[in-house]
Amino acid sequence: METTPVSEDCCVKVAVHVRPLIVDEKLQGCNDCVTVSPGKPQVQIGTHSFTFDHVYGSTTGSPASSMFDECIVPLVNGLFQGYNATVLAYGQTGSGKTYTMGTGFKDGCHIGITPQVMNALFNKIDSLKHQIQFQLHVSFIEILKEEVHDLLDPTSPNKSDTASTGKVHVSGKPPIQIRESSNGVITLAGSTEVSVTTLKEIAACLEQGSLSRATGSTNMNNQSSRSHAIFTITLEQMPITGDGSTNDVMNEEYLCAKLHLVDLAGSERAKRTGSDGMRFKEGVHINKGLLALGNVISALGDEKKRKEGIHVPYRDSKLTRLLQDSLGGNSRTVMIACISPADINAEETLNTLKYANRARNIQNKPVVNRDPMSNEMLKMRQQLQYLQAELCARGGSDEVQVLKERIAWLEATNEDLCQKLHEYRKKCNITEQCEIDSRNFDEETAKEWEHKLLQNTMDKELHELNRRLEEKESEMKLFGGDTVALKQHFGKKIQELEDEKRAVQQERDRLLAEIENLSAGSEGQKQRVQDIHAQKLMSLEAQILDFKRKQENQVQVLKLKHKSDEATKRLQDEIQFIKAQKVQLQHRIKQEAEQFRQWKASREKELLQLRKEGRRNEYERHKLQAINQRQKMVLQRKTEEAAMATKRLKELLEARKSSARDNTGMLLQTNEKALQRWLEHELEVMVNVHEVRFEYESQSQVRAAMAEELAVLKNRFARASSMTLNARMTRIASLENMLSISSDSLIAMASQLSEAEERERSLTNRGRWNQLRSMGDAKNLLQYMFNSLGDTRYFL
Ligand code: ADP
Ligand code: MG
Repeated sequence: METTPVSEDCCVKVAVHVRPLIVDEKLQGCNDCVTVSPGKPQVQIGTHSFTFDHVYGSTTGSPASSMFDECIVPLVNGLFQGYNATVLAYGQTGSGKTYTMGTGFKDGCHIGITPQVMNALFNKIDSLKHQIQFQLHVSFIEILKEEVHDLLDPTSPNKSDTASTGKVHVSGKPPIQIRESSNGVITLAGSTEVSVTTLKEIAACLEQGSLSRATGSTNMNNQSSRSHAIFTITLEQMPITGDGSTNDVMNEEYLCAKLHLVDLAGSERAKRTGSDGMRFKEGVHINKGLLALGNVISALGDEKKRKEGIHVPYRDSKLTRLLQDSLGGNSRTVMIACISPADINAEETLNTLKYANRARNIQNKPVVNRDPMSNEMLKMRQQLQYLQAELCARGGSDEVQVLKERIAWLEATNEDLCQKLHEYRKKCNITEQCEIDSRNFDEETAKEWEHKLLQNTMDKELHELNRRLEEKESEMKLFGGDTVALKQHFGKKIQELEDEKRAVQQERDRLLAEIENLSAGSEGQKQRVQDIHAQKLMSLEAQILDFKRKQENQVQVLKLKHKSDEATKRLQDEIQFIKAQKVQLQHRIKQEAEQFRQWKASREKELLQLRKEGRRNEYERHKLQAINQRQKMVLQRKTEEAAMATKRLKELLEARKSSARDNTGMLLQTNEKALQRWLEHELEVMVNVHEVRFEYESQSQVRAAMAEELAVLKNRFARASSMTLNARMTRIASLENMLSISSDSLIAMASQLSEAEERERSLTNRGRWNQLRSMGDAKNLLQYMFNSLGDTRYFL
């Protein structure tokens, strides 16, 4: 295979991926200190601002879901055109490199770039397999301490061996070597290349490799954060001849391209603070690969140096040798700088952004890896690409316009909502207090109201009872008062009638007997007497009849009387019942009134108590305010000290920058005093860096303590604390305020520390002692240093 000289110039594309704050950072009360300009690929942190090709994540960056389409799809498509490609994930441990790359492939979880690449590859292969024959190979290696480990080695020894010795002994296999062929192509000799034909097979390779990496890391102080993992996919393609289809879109020759997916080691600067936090230990192992990568990036990123044809130190590490093509060579390369938005990571985040920003200057020269081909084909394809690009641009512009409008609208809405949220928050604080006051008041009013209502209903009930009682009583009157007397009167009357009746009957009987006797007397007299008696008898009979009628009437009246007696009895019962009800109700009214009185009395007592407590709270509030004030002052003093140290460091760094520019002038003098002054300056910078770092650490600790207290205070479940609501609110506000001050101070320090780090790096590259040109100079300076060290030790 040959690489044709036709090449395009293209820069390394750099995207930033800001992950969200993770639980651990939230627990530490970290602030989000990374700002992304809406609609622009720009990141701000403190006073620094960086521009990249894309920025994903955060609230205002592009959604991470579009990263694959925007950054990776062009690379995958390029593979099918024969272009090599590389994706590098860079950033401190925990910043999301593995998450972004998806090389920590777990349980079939398909997030991250690598699984998506595999999907896209097979989709494309499926759609083209009738015209083109494909061959796919994968390899998966890890570079740890300058050793290349094969993560896909089927004969790999027991992983626990690997873990205990930290070395891979490949049984029966020579160790993996990096080779460079005569045409400059880098290959790995001895690594396993697995041929894959299905998505399932390639996914299995990724999973197996990830597992090997993870198993190795358990006993080795988190090896994965110190090792680089490279997953390489090689795609070979050859058109299927003889199927009759004139395939004028695809290439008609053999093409071969590689895609490296690189999950780099954690970029964090090894901690320089000793366990006591006072002494500083230098020389902690810094990842050789990353150091070399930084130097390669610096060399390639500096246009002046590049033009001067400066040596690019690819050979300084295995990583840079392997990625030689990816940086400044035959590859389309995307670097993804992963960052945490937490203020405690500000320093590392700044370092990452600076590193990534330099990488943007690297010019690559990707070429199509193919056999020599006819000019015609080349022209045709170039034309096609041109047309496709134009089509893309045209088709895209409308959509872009629509999206832009939508973004503008969303931004406006967002701002609006933020404003509202702010107002609500403010109101909320006030309302909460009002609510507490009004809650007491409300309770009392409600009780009073309830009492009134109850009394009112009971009064009404009583009124009703009275009314019914009156009604019944007047009804009762209708039956007349003394019914017993009436009965007696009637009884007597009946008796009298009875007596009279009996007297008349006797009279009649007597008359009848007389008539009987008379019948024996003279006929004439008899007749007369008889007539008289008959008349008398008749009138007596009539009288008896009359009595009988009267008597019957009387009985009738008596019956009626009896009935009315029963009605009266009922009425009386009813009246009795209503009276009982009335008594009960009156009792209840009295009871309720008494209860209310008692409640009111206890309430007043309570209020009195509350007022007393209020005075106590007031006192506590004052006390708390004093504490808050004092703490704030301490923090302010600390922050001021930190600011002073930071400012001094900034001045020193700037002075050194300008003196570095005059270096040549100074070097010409090369007098002893000048060298001594230079050394003093260097030392002062170093001491200052230590001082700022010390302030940084102690500020971090103060901040962590405050964050912890804040978390406790904000915890809903821990509210049973002795603190009153008011006091807690005040304390929370104060802590939040102090945290924000602390956060600003930390970011300012991180900024200068990162600046110092940068200077240090460039000095180390150039060589700190380059200024010493003669043995005499060196001896003099060493003597000077010796003396001052002696002084220091004596006075310490
Ligand atoms: P690194 O490989 O750089 O050390 P990881 O990828 O392991 O970091 O991520 C560290 C932690 O952060 C993991 O728990 C991971 O799930 C989480 N994380 C990383 N990036 C994101 C993201 N974009 N969204 C949500 N969680 C993330
Ligand atoms: Mg990782």
